Amino acid sequence: MCGIVGYVGQENALDFLLNSLKVLEYRGYDSSGVAISSTDHKINVVKAKGKLNNLINLTNGLNIQGNVGIGHTRWATQGVPSDINAHPHSNSNCSVAIVHNGIISNYIDLKEELVSKHNIEFTSETDSEVVAHLIGVYIEEGLSTKEALIESTKKIKGSYALSVISKEDPGKILLTCNDAPLVVGVGKNKDLYCASDSAALLKYTNQIIRLKDHQIAELSGNGEFTIMDSHNGDFISPEVQTMNFDPFHLDKGEYKHFLMKEIHEQPSIIRNLLGIHLDQDLNINFEGLDEAVFNDINRIIIIGCGTAYYAGLIGKYLLESFSRIPCEIEFASELLARPILADERTLVVAISQSGETADTLMAVKSALSKGARLLTITNRPESTLAALAQNTTILIRAGIEVSVAATKSFTAQVVCMYLLSLHLAAKVKELNPEELKWLKSSLRAIPLIMEQVLSRAEEYREKILPFANKTSFIFLGRGINYPVAMEGALKLKELTYVQATGYASGEMKHGPIATIDENVPTVSILLPGPTYHKALHNLIEAKTRGAPSIAIVADGDKEATREANVVFSVPELPRADEFPHLQDALSPFVSVVPLQLIAYYLAEYLGKDVDQPRNLAKSVTVE
Ligand code: GLU
Repeated sequence: MCGIVGYVGQENALDFLLNSLKVLEYRGYDSSGVAISSTDHKINVVKAKGKLNNLINLTNGLNIQGNVGIGHTRWATQGVPSDINAHPHSNSNCSVAIVHNGIISNYIDLKEELVSKHNIEFTSETDSEVVAHLIGVYIEEGLSTKEALIESTKKIKGSYALSVISKEDPGKILLTCNDAPLVVGVGKNKDLYCASDSAALLKYTNQIIRLKDHQIAELSGNGEFTIMDSHNGDFISPEVQTMNFDPFHLDKGEYKHFLMKEIHEQPSIIRNLLGIHLDQDLNINFEGLDEAVFNDINRIIIIGCGTAYYAGLIGKYLLESFSRIPCEIEFASELLARPILADERTLVVAISQSGETADTLMAVKSALSKGARLLTITNRPESTLAALAQNTTILIRAGIEVSVAATKSFTAQVVCMYLLSLHLAAKVKELNPEELKWLKSSLRAIPLIMEQVLSRAEEYREKILPFANKTSFIFLGRGINYPVAMEGALKLKELTYVQATGYASGEMKHGPIATIDENVPTVSILLPGPTYHKALHNLIEAKTRGAPSIAIVADGDKEATREANVVFSVPELPRADEFPHLQDALSPFVSVVPLQLIAYYLAEYLGKDVDQPRNLAKSVTVE
C-alpha cells in the first residue's frame, strides 16, 4: 500500500525516485508522482494516474534536474484515483510539496478552516492536501519548514508518514510520522534517503533508521541529518540498523510472475527455517527469544489480517491440540471493535508479513495496554511490529515477497506456528515424547514433499483450466484444513476476482448448500486423517445437488477419487499409524500448494494482473 521515497545528495534525484518507486510497485498503488526541488529552487511536480510507466513517460519529456526530491505511489483512501489526486500535493504557490501515507482523519474540519480563514483553494479531493496548505500558511507566518511541520502535526489527526520539501529550505527534506512507517537511509557520498518501506532503499544502502511516532527528521544536502522529538524538542541520537535482505529476491528469475517464483520458493524457505530452529536431535531452538514471555500464560490470542489470519487459525488448532492452552484468534480489526479482555497472563501472538499492518499494530498496542505479553511473527526485522517485541519476535525469513497475494509468507508463518506450538507442547508436557518426535521428524520431511507437489504443477494446470468460465467456487475443509480452504478461496478471489468462499465442510448444510448448482464447483480438501470420511460425505452432499466436485487427495486415495469429478493428487505425508489423530497434522503444507496453483493458473489464463491484482495493496498500512 502507498509508498514514500525521497533523496537529498549530490546526484540527480529523479533517477533515484523512479527506480525506488519501481521497487515499491509490488505494494499495490493506483497513481504515482514526484516533486523535485530544481537547481533554480523551483519545485517541479509531475504525477500521473495508473501504472508507474505513465509517470516515467511523462518525466522523459521534461528535463528535471535537482538534487532534492520526494516521490509517492498512492493507494487512494480519500478521493478517486486520478492525476489530480495523485501525490505530491502542493500549496497554492507551489512553494511546498508533500507526500503522505495514511489518513488525516480531521481533514474536513481543517479544509473548512483553511478555506474560511485563508481563502485557500483546494485542487484535489484528498485528505493529504490540507497538510501542504497548513505548512504553507505557517511558513508565510514566518516559521521555518521544520517549525511549520511541527505546528501542522499539532493540528492534524490520524495516521501519517509525511515527507516535505519547500522553497524556504531548498536543500532539505523534512520527515515525520505517526502510526505509519518511515525510515531514513544513510548512503555513501553523503547521500540521504527516506522511504516508507526499506525495500525501496536496498539498491542504495542497507543502513537505515526507523523514525518513531512524532519524531521529525531533517535531512540536508551535505549528508547531515538530525532527528528530534517534536513533543519535547529533544534531539535523538539515531539507532542505525543494518538491513540484510538480499536484493536478488527482487528478480523474477526464470518465472513469468513473482507469484509463481514465490510459490516455488516455499520448500527452500521452509528448509532454511527448520535448519535454523530444529536441530539434528530434533530440539527446537529460538535463539535470542526471551522465554519469560511464556511463563505462567493461561490464554493465547492470535491476531492477524487476511492470509496471516488463516496462518494464525492453523496456529490455534496446533496450539490447542498440542499444548492445550486455550487460544483465540481474531481479525485485528474486530478485536478493536470491543474491549480487549487481556491481562498479564495473556500471550498475544501477532502475525504480519510486513510488520506494518495498521489494524494489527493498533490491536497489539491495545492488548499491551492491558498488560498482555507479546510475541510477533513477521518477515521484516526492521518493522514497527518487530520493534514492539524486540526479544520476542520470530522471523519467517521468507525474503521479500513481491507478489501482492501472499504465498511463501503464509507457509513460512505456518512453519513458525508449528515450531511455536511444539515448543510450548514440550514445555507443558501435553504430548508424549513419541508424538513430539514423530511430529518434528515429519516436519523435516515437508520441504521434499512440497517439491514433489510442485513438480505436478503442469498437471494441475490442465485439470483446472476447464473451470475457467465458472464465476463462483466453494472451498471446503475440515479441522486443520478448514483455514487452508479459506486461504484457497482468498487466493482465488485476490487473483481472479471471481467469487470464492471458504467454508468448514460441516457448515455446508447449515446454509451455503443453498447456493450450489452445476455452475458452482466445490474444491474439497480430502487428505487422510480423522476428518476424512466426514469431509467426504460433505463433498457427496454437494455433488448430489449438482456441484462439480474437485478434490485434493493423497496418492493412492480410492474413495474420494471415486466420488469427485476431478482430483488433484499430492504425495502422501509420513504415515502416523501409531498416532492416527496426528495423521493430518502437517497436511496444510501440501493441501495449500495445489490451491495456490489453481488460483495462479486461472488468473493467468483469464489475463489478470497476477502480481498486482486490482484494488489490493501488499502491506495494509491504513486501518
Ligand atoms: N489518504 C491519502 C490519499 O487518499 C493517502 C493515501 C495513501 O496512503 O496512499 O491520497
